[in-house]
Amino acid sequence: VLRLGEMSIEGYSVAGEETWFRIHPPGIALDVGRGAPTLTGSRDLFVSHGHLDHALGIPYVLSQRTMHHVAPADPESVSRPVTRIFCPRAIAEGVAALVLACERLESVAYRHEIVGLDPGDRVDVGRGLAIEAFSTDHVVPSLGFHLLRRRRKLEEEYRSLSRDELVRLKASGVGIERESEEIWLSYCGDTGPGVWRLAPRLAESRLLMIECTFLGDEARQRGTAYKHLHFEDLVDHEADLAGHEAIVLHHLSRRHTLGDLRREVETRLPRLAPKVHLLGAAS
Ligand SMILES: [Zn+2]
Ligand SMILES: [Zn+2]
Repeated sequence: VLRLGEMSIEGYSVAGEETWFRIHPPGIALDVGRGAPTLTGSRDLFVSHGHLDHALGIPYVLSQRTMHHVAPADPESVSRPVTRIFCPRAIAEGVAALVLACERLESVAYRHEIVGLDPGDRVDVGRGLAIEAFSTDHVVPSLGFHLLRRRRKLEEEYRSLSRDELVRLKASGVGIERESEEIWLSYCGDTGPGVWRLAPRLAESRLLMIECTFLGDEARQRGTAYKHLHFEDLVDHEADLAGHEAIVLHHLSRRHTLGDLRREVETRLPRLAPKVHLLGAAS
């Protein structure tokens, strides 16, 4: 679990094993791994792509949520919240088939909805927050997700006034604030370095969650072949990473340890190091 200001990021991520995160607020899942118990608290699941280390948990989470919410005497209760699964449009049919197979196995109907998204599509997730999908650079249809927050900001011209003066102005009906929208967090899922070109708004994100699968010379070609990020790609994009308040690296291959990655960050990206957080298996 990482706490960054008001944001809590709970998760687990090892390349090829599983990757899932719970982001609070608003309590959504970003990928679902092979199905983590923590995720059963999430109504909205955002799945970046169909690789099973990110998506297999969909039926597990639906099954758990159905068990927790259905009283045996009232299986059709409409009070059950509908679990919403958002995924790249190209895989929505495959996800529906996977879920249907599991419903048949369990003789249960999960209360759910599967929504295919295209880059640029937006979903309201409550508390003034929304998700916007963006294109990423992977070997199968894939999306990343921006978490957008609407905030009210004081208009420039009123910033020097005292609290009392502001209260007085507001009471007299003067519009002293302006609504603005910021990218609070961006989650890139699995991606190669094309993501910076495909998603130019990444730079605006306050908190960036980005993968780093490979380290070292012998793994250099692997990132290119499998469309994952190698640590050298982060070094190449140091300038793009400079503006984020925090950077969370995840999805490290099992051939490396978090200690190896921490050393690379400290020696090769010393200026970024204080704001780089690592999420993965304990090591
Ligand atoms: Zn992966
Ligand atoms: Zn993948």
